[in-house]
Amino acid sequence: MLERPEAGLHYPGSLAELRSWFPDDDACLDFLDWLQWPQGFTCPHCDSSRSWRLPDGRYSCGGCRRRVSVTAGTIFHRTRTPLTVWFEAAWLLTVQKHGASALGLQRVLGLGSYQTAWVRLHRFRRAMVVSDRDKLSGEVEVDETFIDGKNKPGKCGRGTAGKTLVVGAIERLPEGRRGFRRVRMAVIADATSASLREFVAANIEPGSTVISDALTSYPGALKGEEYEHQPINVKRSGLKAHELLPGVHRIFSLLKRWLDGTLQGAVEPDHLQSYLNEFVLRFNRRHARRRGLLFLRLLEQAVNTKPLSYKALVANPQPTGRVGRPPGAREWPGTLAAEALDRPWRSATPDSTAGPPEAGRHSENAR
Ligand SMILES: [Zn+2]
Repeated sequence: MLERPEAGLHYPGSLAELRSWFPDDDACLDFLDWLQWPQGFTCPHCDSSRSWRLPDGRYSCGGCRRRVSVTAGTIFHRTRTPLTVWFEAAWLLTVQKHGASALGLQRVLGLGSYQTAWVRLHRFRRAMVVSDRDKLSGEVEVDETFIDGKNKPGKCGRGTAGKTLVVGAIERLPEGRRGFRRVRMAVIADATSASLREFVAANIEPGSTVISDALTSYPGALKGEEYEHQPINVKRSGLKAHELLPGVHRIFSLLKRWLDGTLQGAVEPDHLQSYLNEFVLRFNRRHARRRGLLFLRLLEQAVNTKPLSYKALVANPQPTGRVGRPPGAREWPGTLAAEALDRPWRSATPDSTAGPPEAGRHSENAR
């Protein structure tokens, strides 16, 4: 990962810059090449740096004679979608305040099929791992909530009656200051001590204070010397749960609003963890001025994330059949690369603007 990336140098700082940096697929490929091998090509098979470029953009390794493609072993592996489309999708996903839905992406990029947009987004979502290795620390609120599996009521096979259990944690600001810092979230199988302990150990620094409700699983999950536990008995306090654990309740309601709003509830239980990762990344960077940085981080992760086949993406690992398969046929979009046109509106006859649009006039946009 780049240590101190700068906007305008390491990543585009605006949509205008994105489009001028990446006018065609070659430019996109070169950017991925640079991310993959910033010091120049190194063979993933034999570590040789002796190589030459083939006309199709691949490297021919001077050590083992293999042909290596920049996108091999990444989420772009053998993609039939032009890289210009991938890049613009990544930009929309990371720069827009609430991210992007498959339907939104399909509309904005003029993609022919909803499925294409859906699969692209999911490949990226899989690359959206929370790379911030610093665990939460200080005073941390922890709680669980159920997320509805609206699409497949009663069919998702996890949780209770089509609902999936999610655990969340949020850091409180240091004493005397109101507000919150970073969050973490995960899908858990159940609210047992073992499941909660696994989440806490993976996400919260030992020595921290964990604030939870009086659920009986917490003492078991937090036993030992590592964490100080501050349980709050909601019933006995006379206050509401959202007043006692304001941070974690707030992120749960933001999460639900995002799932129902931007994504319009079209969340497949099997992919919920990916959605949580996306939500966490965006929430933790909510104050960042440079939004393009998240675009760079996503592409960095993308070249290091193994591709997942379409089949693997839509197939339910359980033998009950397939879930989460988007409707419609698969279709591959054309490139977004475009030659600069010389003011085409000037050559349009004034009459044609008044009448109904002729068939084919909008063909460039519809691609
Ligand atoms: Zn080699």
